[in-house]
Amino acid sequence: MKKALFFAYLIKLVFIFILKYLSYVGDTSTESEENILRYFTIEDIKIGEEYSRKGFLISIISNLIDISILLSLTFLGYAKKLEDYLQIKTKNSFFLTSILFITICYTINFVIDLPFSYYFEFLLEHQFGFSNLNITSWLILNLKNFILGLFGVILTGLGLIYILKFFIKSWIFLVPVASIIFGLILSVAFPILITPLYYDYSEIENGTLKDKILILCEKEKISITNVYIINESEYSNHTNAYFTGWGKDRKIFLYDTLIKNHTEEEIISILGHEIGHWKYNHQIKDILFSGIILFIGCIITKKIFELSLIQNKMNLEFIYSPSSIPILILIFGLLNFINSPIENYLSRNDETEADREALILTNDKESFISTEIKMARDNKSRLNPHPIIEWFYYSHPKTLDRINLAENFKK
Ligand SMILES: [Zn+2]
Repeated sequence: MKKALFFAYLIKLVFIFILKYLSYVGDTSTESEENILRYFTIEDIKIGEEYSRKGFLISIISNLIDISILLSLTFLGYAKKLEDYLQIKTKNSFFLTSILFITICYTINFVIDLPFSYYFEFLLEHQFGFSNLNITSWLILNLKNFILGLFGVILTGLGLIYILKFFIKSWIFLVPVASIIFGLILSVAFPILITPLYYDYSEIENGTLKDKILILCEKEKISITNVYIINESEYSNHTNAYFTGWGKDRKIFLYDTLIKNHTEEEIISILGHEIGHWKYNHQIKDILFSGIILFIGCIITKKIFELSLIQNKMNLEFIYSPSSIPILILIFGLLNFINSPIENYLSRNDETEADREALILTNDKESFISTEIKMARDNKSRLNPHPIIEWFYYSHPKTLDRINLAENFKK
């Protein structure tokens, strides 16, 4: 099984590097360019290319480092060595060994990734005029991410370890169920607990925009508790808007960057899209679908782990041992890679459904199209992605497809 897993991992790597290459090249056909030039300029295409290509080699180096860490933990037995060492130090406390194992792996990974985050999230984002952070605030942001991330991985890691330990037969059912419950809780708790840690937000001022939003929601019988403006401009110039909460306690969040760059009609069009997601229950469907996929993943993982134990060339102990986490990450990484085009295909369908709803609600395809054009320009989007990249990685249809949907829309 060790050889088979290693081989599968190598195949995944070959695919990843081919995809990286295709993503660099993009769609070079003249037909695609002609279509794009109906709405954009050559300059727009070039900037999108440049932004998506920047740091190509550095991202490969970063990938190679991550790969070597995972491989040495799993195939060279370093995970087991670390666990044995921690067991001695903690006088055989399973609980402490688990926490320390997760903390050490997470911290090493975070520290190694930090220079790459600095390059991608600070230097490049400044170079392309997105980031509004100075170095101190960037460091504070990363410290926050570290603490919150550590808290998150310890919680999920321990949860997983104890489910695996105490439910030897039924964990393949319990893990997906727990993930669905956790997903539902998080979707409610996130705006209440996490958003305030990063953002200041205030209620939208009375005015024509607020009136238009309220009319739109009333028309769709959506009761909302409030509309908030989030201070994204403190961090970056990226734009976004979203709905949160369930039932009667719904809130709308708009990035201040969105208000700055878009007309009221365009903002209403964006909200129409979000209402589409709400109306078709996309969020709940996504959480349930992920649960089902996770269930299939658990069955396959259980089988692979059992087969690995037969000759046990990877020095595995129990599936719930902390030292089994890296091999579980490796197996799940493989399965996730295979699942990625399926999940993105479904997500693109949801997005198209939401786009259609926005067009039906507003009956304003001009604002829809101008929003798409502005958003692509503001975010320096890649306008000519390679079709295979779009199929594999894109959770949203590419800009031109969304514009075409609006052009062909008839009420
Ligand atoms: Zn959407």
